[in-house]
Parts: sequence; C-alpha cells; structure tokens
Amino acid sequence: MPRPIQATIHTAALRHNLSQVRQAVADAKVWAVVKANAYGHGIERVFEGLRGADGFALLDLTEAERVRALGWRGPILLLEGAFEARDLELCSRLHLWHTVHCDEQIDMLALHKTHEPHRVFLKMNSGMNRLGFAPHRLRSAWTRLNALPQVDEISLMTHFSDADGSKGVAHQVARFEEVTRDLPGERSVSNSAATLRHAQDPAVKSDWVRPGIAVYGSAPDHPEHNAAHWGLQPAMTLSAQVIAVQHVQTGDSVGYGSTFVAEHPTRIGVVACGYADGYPRICPTGTPVLIEGARGRTVGRVSMDMLTVDLTPFPEAGVGSTVTLWGQAANGVVLPIDEVAQAAGTVGYELMCALAQRVPVAVAG
Ligand SMILES: *Cc1c(COP(=O)(O)O)cnc(C)c1O
Repeated sequence: MPRPIQATIHTAALRHNLSQVRQAVADAKVWAVVKANAYGHGIERVFEGLRGADGFALLDLTEAERVRALGWRGPILLLEGAFEARDLELCSRLHLWHTVHCDEQIDMLALHKTHEPHRVFLKMNSGMNRLGFAPHRLRSAWTRLNALPQVDEISLMTHFSDADGSKGVAHQVARFEEVTRDLPGERSVSNSAATLRHAQDPAVKSDWVRPGIAVYGSAPDHPEHNAAHWGLQPAMTLSAQVIAVQHVQTGDSVGYGSTFVAEHPTRIGVVACGYADGYPRICPTGTPVLIEGARGRTVGRVSMDMLTVDLTPFPEAGVGSTVTLWGQAANGVVLPIDEVAQAAGTVGYELMCALAQRVPVAVAG
C-alpha cells in the first residue's frame, strides 16, 4: 500500500470558480492564470476544469508548450514576456501572446524574424514597481512597438499592489488611465482581488481579467473575506490517514522539541503528512484539521513525514481515519486552505504552490 496521503483536484470546483469570476465581470474575457504549474495543482489536471476560460496566462515557456500539447488553440499570454531572444521563436511557433515590460524586450522583438506579427501586452508600472514601463516612458514604448513589423495588436496592462487591501486600486487606475486614455487596444488590469472586490467600480476597466487564486478556490483577501463569501469552492484537497494512535498521560509531551505537553489524558493521532509533503512546519498546535469531516486540531510540531492531531474528542477515530489538512472532506465539510495558511502566517497561494512532488494526486470530477 502506498503511503496514505493524497491530494485531490476538483474539476467541478474549478469550473464553478471560473463561472463565479465570469459572473463578477460579465463583459470581460478571462485569462485563467496557470503559472507555477497551475498554482501547484498541475496544468494537465486543471485543464478540463478551466478550458472554459478565454485564455491561459502563465510565465514559463515549457508551461505554454504543455498547454498547447493539451490541444488548446486559443490565446496564451506570457505574463513576463520573453526572457531571451530565442523565446520569441517559440512565441511565433506556438502563437503565444507576450507581455512587453522593458526596452530590452522591444530590442529583441525588433531583431526577431517572423512572418506572423505578434500580439503583445504592453505593461505599465502604475505603482507596483516590479515590472513595466514608468508612466512617462509608456508612450514612447508604445510608439516604438507600433512601428515594428513584428508587432500586431498592442494591448495595455498593469498590475495592482493593493487590490486585496485597504489602499485599493484607485491611485493606480488613475495613473494608468491618465497615460493610456487615448491609446487604442484592449486593457488588462485585474487580478483575482480586483476582479472580485472592484468589479462594480466603473473606473476599473479590464477587457481581460487575470484571476489566479480565485479559480483555485482561495479568497484573495482572506481574512477580510473567506472563500465562501465569494462563493468559491476549494479546487485542491489534501488528506492523509491516521497511521498510529498514542495514549498520552498528563505531563507527557508529543513530538520534536516537546512543544505540546498534555494537560489531561489525550489520544494522539499520528497522520501521514509532514512538511516534506508541503504542509507547513511552522503551523502551531491548534491549527485546524478535519477528522473524518469534523473540525479538530493539530498538536505539537509538524515533522517531515508526520503530524499529530488530538483525537480525544473523536472516540470513533483511529488508525485508518481520514484527516483533511485542507479542502473538502468526504462529508462535504470544507476546511479552507486560507485558514491553514493563516496559522502558518502566510497565504493560500504559498501552500497550494508548495504541494510536494511525492504526494500522489487524483483528479475528481
Ligand atoms: C499571478 C498574476 C496574476 C494572478 O493573481 P491572483 O492574485 O492569483 O489572481 C495576475 N496578473 C499577473 C501579472 C500575475 O503575475
């Protein structure tokens, strides 16, 4: 028997989440963002659930090849564009649309030999200060691109730093609008947080929205809102079984560093999931889990291959019981990945992306 741990990717949840996004922005086309191997879910595993998107956005060229290999003939956008001149050959061959965020990428395009001009997304830095042309440089970049025979349509994009928080997007939208107002082309500005939180704001115009985290069923603005608030369902479940039970007495400790000391006789379940599976070691005693679909908690330190839970409130549970680390239990109860992420001081994104290679993954309908 293989080690009793499993991740499950829920095709129906992906489809549902995509439709939630579509409802939020009825007029916009949707890029399903599948970078980082579909946020750890696996590009091939999410494809069926997300093929209703208008396009796929990602940044590794090998991932673009994988999407084409699945038979996808629609748009694919490289969110960071070409890294070197050779990448443009693949763009020509696979009809990839690509971001242009710096002069060096325009230089590469100008030297690129292609029969088919490329669709590009010209990126402005509206305040995030990561990628993109500064506002005062955007127009000259656009003019330069527009003069290139290698370039077909030019779309305009920017990225928000605070769509999930109180600072919001207005300051960036204003800067973007001011510079791009009289430039033609489609706009792409909204990530998940902007798509869900600022959809009703007429100033946030996005012909193409770029949701990632929302399609995987995690709230972009947890804990202000949870996934249920946005009508999102978890696309990934991580579950494992109890492989041993220990009866500890008052004063006994559990696990490395003896961080948990029993205050009364306690039944400890040892679960076949550890940090080498992608479960964060930093999660403290009290991190929520589902034990046969009922809320329980971890105790003690997470180790490489195991973690421990308090089975005392669950007299029926024992070796072979299923513990859901995040996602949906068999009885339908959900433990949002965002709650586990919060216990680890991070975000759902990081947990799903860190699902380890050694965990077997099943795809459910
Ligand atoms: C990752 C990414 C997104 C998706 O962000 P989410 O917060 O996951 O919705 C959108 N746009 C760009 C440029 C990105 O890199």
